[in-house]
Amino acid sequence: MDETVIPRPVAPSLVVQGTSARFPVRRVYCVGRNYADHAREMGATGRERPFFFAKPADAVLNVADGTEGLMAYPPVTQNLHHEVELVVALGSGGHDLSAEQAAACIWGFAIGLDMTRRDLQSEAKKAGRPWETGKAFDHSAPIGPLHPVQQTGPMTSGTIELLVNGQPRQAGNLSDMIWSVSEAIADLSTFFTLQPGDLLFTGTPAGVGPVVRGDHLEAKVQGLGTLKVRIG
Ligand code: MN
Repeated sequence: MDETVIPRPVAPSLVVQGTSARFPVRRVYCVGRNYADHAREMGATGRERPFFFAKPADAVLNVADGTEGLMAYPPVTQNLHHEVELVVALGSGGHDLSAEQAAACIWGFAIGLDMTRRDLQSEAKKAGRPWETGKAFDHSAPIGPLHPVQQTGPMTSGTIELLVNGQPRQAGNLSDMIWSVSEAIADLSTFFTLQPGDLLFTGTPAGVGPVVRGDHLEAKVQGLGTLKVRIG
């Protein structure tokens, strides 16, 4: 590689279940309001088209199977929220994809947490300002091991849940998504040319709420195991 004038940043990547090879992360996209019950709890009325935002790739906190990740409680917030989500990883890409073409781009799936400084996001919404300080901070994207689609199938149904200190907080089913995984990828591809290494957080069911230092989070998606994170 070429000599660099500052140290080269570490390239983010995900553990792949069952292998020592890793999945390099290029971009992290997120869908907002993709489950009707969560859209309602966030104040949406009627059926809105989901929308997209992004986190930097190095916001990923990758947590290996059987371990508990440590997420530092972020500064400048008094209201850090959990959002458990199915994360889809792309092995190929393109633009203006059909849902069928989008489905063929899927490399695998993982459990993710779209951690959110809700107070900062709410202020930004009110002021019509960007969401980055609420959504795109360091460690804002804990993600478990990636499971190849050949092993998981298309993940169109199955339970998704989150427990804090053993208590259920969020519960839903992947079949309750307003836009399916492949439809969301297809819609995203109208805005951006998608490429191998892109991740998409596919939205969260109802029950989002605050966590504090010392809390133990367990995020579960049927077929993908459990992602464990402690807030430090
Ligand atoms: Mn989310």
